[in-house]
Amino acid sequence: MNLIFLGPPGAGKGTQAAAVSGDLKVPHISTGDMFRKAISEGTPTGLKAKSFMDAGQLVPDDVVIALVKERLAMDDCRNGYILDGFPRTVEQAEALSAFADLDAVINLDVDDEVLVNRLSGRRVCPVCGAPYHVSRLNGETACKVDGTPLIQRDDDKPETVLSRLNVYHEKTAPLIDFYQKAKLLHSVGGDLSLEEISEAILKALEASK
Ligand code: AMP
Repeated sequence: MNLIFLGPPGAGKGTQAAAVSGDLKVPHISTGDMFRKAISEGTPTGLKAKSFMDAGQLVPDDVVIALVKERLAMDDCRNGYILDGFPRTVEQAEALSAFADLDAVINLDVDDEVLVNRLSGRRVCPVCGAPYHVSRLNGETACKVDGTPLIQRDDDKPETVLSRLNVYHEKTAPLIDFYQKAKLLHSVGGDLSLEEISEAILKALEASK
């Protein structure tokens, strides 16, 4: 299945996409992860993306669209994929429709107040990417998987979180309507437990077959 996971930053798209990608055996494609990797490797795409990401702004459409088009043409996407964090603008969604045939769009719906708390308390392992929340770390400061000291992503700092949410409401939220009109949208409440959300997503996908 060719799927999109839509939702505001902090809604849990990455966590849910990783779980469902394991269930469906299709690759999980996160544009945010692709940019972070490109930045750490110092590639031209990384250099273009860095200043936008640090400011909580969107990377220009042409850069993201080219990246995703190239990624979806790879062999491992032949039996499907999950896009996490793309599209984020109507222009990206329109471009995507020219080179992808979508089966469903899962929209994770979470209130802003919950998102601010989740994002500003998020800590991640810089090596394996495992996510944590300060409220559940009990003072621990290292990754449980590999022992690396946890960090706060630059774009999870409070001032950047607010600008990411504004960008979401202005540029990305219109996609809910866009995919509703295309009869592809399934909305799932994102403030249930992780297991309940996964279950609701799998049920929605089953219904969309
Ligand atoms: P994420 O990890 O999905 O929250 O993405 C982190 C940052 O990467 C975003 O705040 C944007 O700066 C950039 N980014 C990721 N995906 C896109 C996209 N589809 N369009 C524009 N910018 C993006």
